[in-house]
Formats: sequence, structure tokens, C-alpha cells
Amino acid sequence: MTAKSVSKQPKYDYDAIVIGTGPGGEGAAMYLAKSGKTVAAIERYHAVGGGCTHWGTIPSKALRHSVSRLIEFNENPLFQVEEQMKGLTFSQILKHAAGVIRKQVRLRTGFYDRNLVKIYQGEARFVDAHHLEITNPDGSHYILSAETIVIATGSRPYRPAHVDFTHPRIYDSDTILSLEHDPRHIIIFGAGVIGCEYASIFRGLGVRVDLVNTRDRLLSFMDAEISDSLSYHFWNSGMTIRHGEEFSHIEGRDDGVILHLQSGKKMKADCFLFANGRTGNTDMLALANVGLEADGRGLLKVNGKYQTTIENIYAVGDVIGYPSLASAAYDQGRLAGEAIVKGNLDGHLIADIPAGIYTIPEMSSVGKTEQELTAAKIPYEVGRAQFKHLARAQIANTSAGSLKLLFHRDTLEILGIHCFGERAAEIVHIGQAIMMQKNGGNNLNYFVHTTFNYPTMAEAYRVAALNGLNRLF
Ligand SMILES: Cc1cc2nc3c(=O)[nH]c(=O)nc-3n(C[C@H](O)[C@H](O)[C@H](O)COP(=O)(O)OP(=O)(O)OC[C@H]3O[C@@H](n4cnc5c(N)ncnc54)[C@H](O)[C@@H]3O)c2cc1C
Repeated sequence: MTAKSVSKQPKYDYDAIVIGTGPGGEGAAMYLAKSGKTVAAIERYHAVGGGCTHWGTIPSKALRHSVSRLIEFNENPLFQVEEQMKGLTFSQILKHAAGVIRKQVRLRTGFYDRNLVKIYQGEARFVDAHHLEITNPDGSHYILSAETIVIATGSRPYRPAHVDFTHPRIYDSDTILSLEHDPRHIIIFGAGVIGCEYASIFRGLGVRVDLVNTRDRLLSFMDAEISDSLSYHFWNSGMTIRHGEEFSHIEGRDDGVILHLQSGKKMKADCFLFANGRTGNTDMLALANVGLEADGRGLLKVNGKYQTTIENIYAVGDVIGYPSLASAAYDQGRLAGEAIVKGNLDGHLIADIPAGIYTIPEMSSVGKTEQELTAAKIPYEVGRAQFKHLARAQIANTSAGSLKLLFHRDTLEILGIHCFGERAAEIVHIGQAIMMQKNGGNNLNYFVHTTFNYPTMAEAYRVAALNGLNRLF
């Protein structure tokens, strides 16, 4: 045999290995596979999809959907026949969520299969910069190697050491999905996005909710008017909100819990959801074997190409921190894939990441808040549309809510879009598309000069634009 005819053995098992199959891992794996790379994905859970599909975005949105339909039904006079619809229980709405998860897993498994990305079930840890040890669910292990490794291991709820999460009445946002009894009263500690979304879900089911916030207002990164609207709706629905509190300790009893706050207050309920902070999933990766170190919250640092300080190791998604959204994680995965394939990166994550918060009512925003524009001394004006004045909202009986456009009073450039009410997370994208236009295309007049379908919620843009223009002098 001549030297020429000996086929060259690849140096590694794969061109790339992605650890984790959430949106970050999927984005990277699909980009790399479609670019002709040989790719494997390691996933410790028994199905693909990540925390996003199994414990985070998808189940919480499916639960919220069921609850908001229940509220809509109970509030619509059309359906108030002889008997009001009986309430739903948490276990009942979990069934709908489980059905959605199944469909998502089937769909996403198909992506891996079609793109010939081999999935290995097991937990990965670094042996060195190119070798991973994979531990099977039965405890056995083996080694896989790759030229490039992408860490997309996501995050998990932060658990303070002195809270007993094995107690049957004490939950975090992962374990709440295995809630077996139907509580009449819940305390939620932490009023960030996850805390507020679960507060809406439980209140919608008729559960008494005490929401404890460590800050002085709900979701302080949102435009103040929008977060105040949420506070009002929570208060109006009978929820108790306590701001500016610090956790002291929790007593678990057979029939419930007693929460002690540092302010000296005590609160009693059937169960407790701790939803205050998240930790990056890096502790099982044996990062020291490659000379990487996570920060105190388990997060990794990356450069603009999603590359860690080790040249062939990349990281995307929740494990690198802000914005910790499924939407961004997927884009980061694709961008990391592009950087690996091309060696550089033409694209980047958009600067104005939209926020969609699936409380009841829903909230969404993109761009600057009034507070940010005021602090930056930008002369802006406001255009508003109240949903109650829109035919479509009246027809759908979803008249609580509004759209607020912030625009530069000289250039009419749209600077921020803030929406509160049913379908806010969808509505905001109409304005986002205009706001992202370059070369003068981002102009409030677009909404005045276009023709909208009628009746639609999109019409709120025309109403808000005219309202804003009328304020100019
Ligand atoms: C309750 C809740 C609601 C949310 N709602 C929204 C929302 O409405 N919109 C939104 O955009 N975002 C939302 N998020 C955030 C979103 O879920 C995350 O930003 C997203 O899942 C991050 O994607 P990821 O790929 O980084 O990680 P993940 O989706 O967490 O996936 C990481 C995967 O890595 C696996 N893994 C970890 N370590 C290892 C290892 N050593 N070996 C092998 N596998 C490993 C895990 O099992 C997991 O499957 C929500 C989160 C929560 C908790």
C-alpha cells in the first residue's frame, strides 16, 4: 500500500461537540452541522430541548396560556350561562404543558436527526481542552473528543444553602412543576420575571398569593409606567405585594410553611416558591482541567465571538449571563457557530433585545424607557393608544392595556416601544421592525401613512403615532 492511499484518520471524534441541547446548544449545533461540520451534542436529560423546553420557558408559558383562557372565559358575559366555569387546578393545567413539551421534543429531536447531529445522553466534564468524559445515566463513562467545544449548559434556580428544598412544601421554579397538591395560598419570594409570571398563574387559578420583592418596585428594568400597571393589576386581583424585603429563613411544617423576613415580618402559607436568582451550570464541568474559571454565580466570560479564554472552547446562552433568554441563547448559538466556521463574526446580537414578560396581563418592550431617555437628556415625546378604544380589543373583550411609543421630537425616530396587555409580546414586534430600519426608515410617520387591517391590535400603532404627533408644537 502506498502512503498516498492511506486515508488520513481524523484527529478527533468530531469537528465540534456541543454540551447541552437547549436553545443555545441547538443554535450552535444546527449552524455547525449545516456548514458541513461533524457534530455531536451531549445532553444529561433524557430528552433534547434544555431547561427552556422542560422546566423554563415552555411549561410556564403553557401554564399561563391555560390560566389566561380560564380568566377570559370566566370574565366574558357571553359564557355566564347557568353556572360559571369551575376553576382549573394546577395539576390539570400541567397536563396541557406536558402535551406541548412532548410536541416540542419531537420537533427538536427531528432537527438533530435530520442534520446528522449525534446525541449522547450523559453528563459531560472536561478532561482537557479537546476531550470530554461522558458519564452515562448508569454511572459508566467514556471519552469523546472534538476540535471545538461549545458549552451551552444553561442555568438552574439559585438555592440558598439554608433552605430545605427537599421539604414537600418548598419549591423552586424547576420543582414547582411537580407540585402535587392544590395550594390555597402560596408565598413567592422573588418578584423578577419568573416570580411575577408564577404569581399570575397561581392567582389566576384562584390561589391566594403573597409576592415578596427584594426591590422597591416590580421589574425595575421595565418602563416605570408599565411596571406600575402590573403592580396595579396584581393589587386589583387581590395579590399582596411586599417590596424592599430580605429573606431571613423558612420554617417547613407538615401543613405548610412560615416565612421569616429580615424586617421581622412572618408570613404563613400552604407552600413556598423561592424564585430569587439563578446559577450557571458550570460546577459539573471540571473547568479547572482546562484552566477555565466561572464567577461566583457560575457564569463564564466570553469575547465578542463567544469564545472563552481557551481558544477552541466557546460558551453561549444562560451560562454566560445577560440577557438569559431563550430567544437570545438561540441567536448566540448560531453566532458562535458562525465564528467557529469562519474564524470571525460578521453579525452580532442586536443591541435592543426585546423583553416579553408573560404575566397576566402580558408586558413587552424594546428600546429605551422614559427613565433612560430622561437621564440621557434626549428630547422625546410620547404617543399612546389605549386598548379599550380599539375595536379589536372590544370584540375580544381584552380592553385592559395600552401601547406607548417613545420618539425623538425632532427626528421622529422611534426610541422605545412599551406594551401592556393581551398579546403585548407579539404586538411589540411590529414596531420593532420599523425601529430597526436604517437610513431614515425608522420614523413614526410610517404608522400614519400605512394602511392597517381593520380591526386589529396592530392599529394601536396608528392611534399611538397620531396621538404622539398631536403633542408636537
Ligand atoms: C420559569 C422560566 C420561564 C422562562 N421564560 C422565558 C421566556 O418566556 N422567554 C425567554 O426567552 N426565556 C425564558 N426563560 C429563560 C430561558 O429558559 C433560558 O434563557 C434558556 O433556556 C437558556 O438556554 P440555554 O441553551 O442556555 O440553556 P438550557 O435551556 O437551560 O439548556 C441547557 C441544557 O444543558 C444540559 N446540561 C447542563 N449541564 C450539562 C452537562 N454537564 N452535560 C450534559 N448536559 C448538560 C441541561 O440538562 C439542559 O438540557 C425562562 C426561564 C425560566 C426558568
